[in-house]
Amino acid sequence: MLSIQDLDLRGKSVFLRVDYNIPLDKNDNITDDSRIKTSLPTLQYLLDQGARVIIASHLGRPKGSFKPEFSVKPVAQRLSELIHNDVIVAPDVIGDEVDKLKRELKDGQILMLENLRFYEGETNNDPSFAKKLASGIDYYVNDSFATCHRTHASIVAITDFIPKSAAGMLMKKEVDHLSQIIFQPEKPYVAILGGKKVSDKITVIESLLDKVDVLLIGGAMSYTFFGAQGLDIGKSFIEEDKKDLSLKLLEMADKKGVDLHLPIDHIAAPDIDSPEEAIHIDGFPIPSQMTALDIGPKTITAYSDQIIRAKTLFWNGPMGVFEVEEFSRGTTEIAKAVARSGAYAVIGGGESAAAVYKISVAGKISHISTGGGASLEFITNGTLPGIEVLKES
Ligand code: ADP
Ligand code: MG
Repeated sequence: MLSIQDLDLRGKSVFLRVDYNIPLDKNDNITDDSRIKTSLPTLQYLLDQGARVIIASHLGRPKGSFKPEFSVKPVAQRLSELIHNDVIVAPDVIGDEVDKLKRELKDGQILMLENLRFYEGETNNDPSFAKKLASGIDYYVNDSFATCHRTHASIVAITDFIPKSAAGMLMKKEVDHLSQIIFQPEKPYVAILGGKKVSDKITVIESLLDKVDVLLIGGAMSYTFFGAQGLDIGKSFIEEDKKDLSLKLLEMADKKGVDLHLPIDHIAAPDIDSPEEAIHIDGFPIPSQMTALDIGPKTITAYSDQIIRAKTLFWNGPMGVFEVEEFSRGTTEIAKAVARSGAYAVIGGGESAAAVYKISVAGKISHISTGGGASLEFITNGTLPGIEVLKES
C-alpha cells in the first residue's frame, strides 16, 4: 500500500476522500469537529507539497438527491478556519462546472466537492459516477478509514479511473495499529465486547474466538446469553432470535479454550428513565419488573483483574447505558482499567471511544480507532474493501 510520502505531489490534482460525516445541530452548528481535526495532518502535507487538493466526503443520509440541508458548506467553513486556508466549495459533486473548478485550482489550493451522497451512484459504487469523480485527477488519497468497509464509488470504484492511489496518514495509522493486534498480538490477549446487540457482533465474536485468550462480555448483549441459558433476566434487553446462536458461541468458546466471562452482578432499575430506583443485583434471578442497565461492582473487579494481566487488549462497546450517569460506572471503570493495564490497547471506535475521551484517559491508550463498524470488520477479516483497492494500486 502506497502512502502519500511515496507520491510526487507538486502541481498534481489529488482527490482526497475524508470522513467529514460530523454531527450538526438544527442551526447547522457543528457539535463535534474532531473528524475534521484528524484529517488535518494529511491535508496540510498535501498542501505543503504543492498539490491541488479536491476534498470529498459524505454527510448524513440525503439518499441520492440534492438536499440543501445536507450541504457540506458549514463543514467547509470549519475546515477553512482549522487549516487557515481558503476552501472553495463546489456547487455540485460532478459535472462541467465542477470540472472547470478542478482545472482552475492552483498549487496549494483546496476545492471541496458537495456531499457525495447527493448521487445514488455513490452508495451503488457506480462506475460511471466514479469516472466523473475521477475526471481531471492525478492521484487518489483515502484518509477515511471509518468508511472503508463500504463498497462505495468514492472508496472503491474511483480507484479504477485514477492511475495511482495511496493511503493518507490517518488511514496508515489505523491500518498499522489494528494490524498489530490482528497479526501479532502479544499474549495474553483479552477482548472486551459490550453494546446492545449480539447480532451486530456475531462475526467479530467468532473471529476473536480464534485469537484471544479471554473474552469479557458486558452490556445489553450479555442478557441474550443469559436468557438462552434459561436464567431470569427480568425486563432486560434480549434478542429472542439470537438465543440459539449465543449458546453456539458459548460452546465454540469452550471448544477453543477461550476463557469467556459474562457479568456476575448487575445494576438494574425498572427502566432507563428511573435511575433513582437503581439497585444492585447479585447473579440471578433479576426481578421481573427490573431491567439490567450496567455491570455491577463484582463484575468490574473480576474484569479489571483480567484486563490488568493482558498484554494485548481490544475493546468495543459500552458495559452499560453509559449515557446515563447512574449506569455509566461499569464503562468508566473498564476504561480506567484499560488505561492502567500498560497493554497494547486498541479501542474500536463508537461509544467505547466516546467513554474513553469523556474520562480523559485517551492518552494512555495505544490506539483509539476512528471507525466503529470499520474497525470491527477489519478485526474480523484482516482487511476492508477500501483498503484492498489501495493495496492493488
Ligand atoms: P457500539 O456502538 O459501541 O458498537 P452498540 O451500538 O452495539 O455499541 O450499543 C451501544 C448502546 O448500547 C449504548 O447506547 C448503550 O446505552 C446501550 N446499552 C449498553 N448496555 C445496555 C443495557 N444493559 N441495556 C440497554 N442498553 C444498553
Ligand atoms: Mg452504536
